[in-house]
Amino acid sequence: MGSRKVTSSEPLDWQGRHVTVAGLGVSGVPAAKVLHARGANVTVVNDGDDARAREQAAELEALGITVRLGDGATLPEGTELVVTAPGWKPDKPLFAAAREAGLEIWGDVELAWRLRGPDAAPWLAITGTNGKTTTTQMLASILKAAGLRTAAVGNIGVSLLDAVLGDEQYDVLAVELSSYQLHWAPSLRAHSAAVLNLAPDHLDWHGSMEAYAKDKGRIYEGNRVACVYNVADKATEDLVREADVEEGCRAVGFTLGTPGPSQLGVVEGILVDRAFVEDRHKNAQELAEISDVNPPAPHNIANALAAAALARAFGVPARAVRDGLRDFTPDAHRIAHVADVADVAYVDDSKATNTHAAEASLAAYESIVWIAGGLAKGATFDELVAKSAKRLRGVVLIGQDRALIREALARHAPEVPVVDLDRTDTGAMLAAVQEASRLAVAGDTVLLAPACASMDMFANYNKRGDAFAEAVRELGS
Ligand code: ADP
Repeated sequence: MGSRKVTSSEPLDWQGRHVTVAGLGVSGVPAAKVLHARGANVTVVNDGDDARAREQAAELEALGITVRLGDGATLPEGTELVVTAPGWKPDKPLFAAAREAGLEIWGDVELAWRLRGPDAAPWLAITGTNGKTTTTQMLASILKAAGLRTAAVGNIGVSLLDAVLGDEQYDVLAVELSSYQLHWAPSLRAHSAAVLNLAPDHLDWHGSMEAYAKDKGRIYEGNRVACVYNVADKATEDLVREADVEEGCRAVGFTLGTPGPSQLGVVEGILVDRAFVEDRHKNAQELAEISDVNPPAPHNIANALAAAALARAFGVPARAVRDGLRDFTPDAHRIAHVADVADVAYVDDSKATNTHAAEASLAAYESIVWIAGGLAKGATFDELVAKSAKRLRGVVLIGQDRALIREALARHAPEVPVVDLDRTDTGAMLAAVQEASRLAVAGDTVLLAPACASMDMFANYNKRGDAFAEAVRELGS
């Protein structure tokens, strides 16, 4: 058995290899099918045994794939490799058994990486606690503006396996990676990669901040051209320093301030490159204006600089950076301007589901009526409130854990008026918007940036943002 283990360094011949796929669902089902089609002997194990699982199991069994429902803990006899859904926690007994047997455990990203062809497109990879989707889409937009065949893929809705094995030919891929995906991707080697920022998140999954950072840092391993880091977030630079990269690979910083050599930054409203220019000690290349970034909030300019750095690492001309940024429109519920009512702007940043994201969005406006609250997921709010207090005209609190925010406000912003809506029903959003409109004066921004997850009141952050927009429309009518 020992010699039959699948390892990330050996060339792959799947014929007759015993692969256990952990978890049905969006990554497990296609993984099982692809491996089966290549001749592997596939067994899928799944914790759940509900109607959906049975449906998926039936589909796979019809192909000749073995499926074990209701038992995701036991490692099937003879397993040579485990391919897991990225969300499965590393402390599962199945993984302990696999490690004990000296087996490799791959996630969906590792599998795609290993299955891509010899002439496959290089990957420009992006991770971070916040801003991943936006930056990945900005990058794809810039690459397209340069005439390259590309797609935004990964933790973004488009499966990497599809992108790697589909008929479409790409020159380069813009790849969003979550910390879970990176955890399970031992041999991934990106052309260049960026860690946008690092704040505590998903710590229950990773076990500690250190483990979370380490998994994020995996994105830099083996980079060939550039490791892009955030000058304002030292933890990201530390990860670059710790990474084992290819000879000649450069550390490139992005900053909202004036860039030093080997950095991209901002000078008098212009996004400027001092990394990918000749003689970076003397020269700088103008890339775009701040007004080309949509929306031009500080954190989003940082996202644009990170995207630009990766594109420039790939050799994209300055003009394409500008055109790509101009062409880009953010996904819904990310600092989306809903409407102006009575000279007050209403902005939906429902996607700000943690305090780090909310802090960025609160920093983007001068005078704010803040709508916040929901499920805190173990977060504390003192730092966020203390940093944002001077911008707050007032606050309206909703949701299950609102008392945590109210207490932080009492400590750090006692003079700011707070309306505590003792409600968690869906209709509470209309009441919240009405209360916010009463607190706001002309020129203010009413900002939904809850700093919390939405599931106590809504199906997801999209529904929460939709309820906000609906309430604003009612206000204006
Ligand atoms: P992710 O894919 O990492 O969740 P998104 O691009 O979807 O990131 O943005 C999620 C939210 O994070 C945004 O609505 C905004 O509130 C916040 N955000 C975006 N970019 C940044 C950034 N660079 N730093 C901090 N917060 C950010």
